[in-house]
Amino acid sequence: MYYSYSEYLKEKYGQKVYKLPVNLPVSCPNRKEGAGCSFCADEGTGFEAADSMETVNGQLKSSREKVEKRYHAKRFIAYFQNYTNTFLPLEQLMAYMREAGNVDNIVEICLSTRPDCIRRDYLEAMADFREKTGIQVSLELGLQTVNYHTLRAVNRGHGLAEFLDAVLTIAPYHFPVCVHMILNLPGDTMEDAKEAAKILSALPVSMVKLHSLYIPKKSVLYQEYRNGRISICAKEEYLERLAEFIALLRPDIAVERLFARIPEKDSAFCNWGHSWWKLMDEWKALMEEKQYVQGIHCDYLNGAALNRWGL
Ligand code: SF4
Repeated sequence: MYYSYSEYLKEKYGQKVYKLPVNLPVSCPNRKEGAGCSFCADEGTGFEAADSMETVNGQLKSSREKVEKRYHAKRFIAYFQNYTNTFLPLEQLMAYMREAGNVDNIVEICLSTRPDCIRRDYLEAMADFREKTGIQVSLELGLQTVNYHTLRAVNRGHGLAEFLDAVLTIAPYHFPVCVHMILNLPGDTMEDAKEAAKILSALPVSMVKLHSLYIPKKSVLYQEYRNGRISICAKEEYLERLAEFIALLRPDIAVERLFARIPEKDSAFCNWGHSWWKLMDEWKALMEEKQYVQGIHCDYLNGAALNRWGL
């Protein structure tokens, strides 16, 4: 039905690989320059992250121990998850990467960041690190929506152009790119969800991570929600958008997540009050009803009109 991130990892590493969250003492330019994204909580975006005062080594070892015991896991990804992890002096970032790379059985370092925090000198240093250590590097870029009016409304602090620039700048380095998207930001429609799938499919993107919109209690969006200034689309509409998005998405783009997963106590709204696995069941039933699988409608690339006319 869809190409899952766990399948992607299994194909890449020949076994199950688990992400271990690492919380660096880092911030985000969008929070330093203003209020940050309207949906951003105080903690940034990493609810599972460990204490940033703990060393990278210490964080990785303690979470590795838990995951090893629980899942008998043997290979791991150090996931620099919270805030904007390339918003650090380059030498400091590389020191954190080396520290993570020295922990046993780390096969990859994944850095979560913003499109306007991608620069060639950082990518060069990461490529050099990969070359010397054999440890893979991947990047997660927050985009959330391709609608630049909505990007402005939620105060992302960048538009679509910065995202396109980041993806095209990363491409020659062959770091797999994962894009974070929210298909139901206030103001967005089904058309935005569909266009998002098409834009991502036209780019060298390897993964997408989808979150249904949640409203952290410590966010600007929470005030707007409480004052009735925004509305959130119905659950059924979200499931429809998700189905159309996946149907249009290039089949080789791995899908890491489809719904938000945050602790209930931290949010004023999340998943329409349902568990993510219940929503998952409903969505799968919808996909079956529509006879959809990932990429079934991905026929718009590579000269679609020429192909349609048999030229
Ligand atoms: S880019 Fe991420 S960390 Fe920065 S304000 Fe937005 S959601 Fe928060």
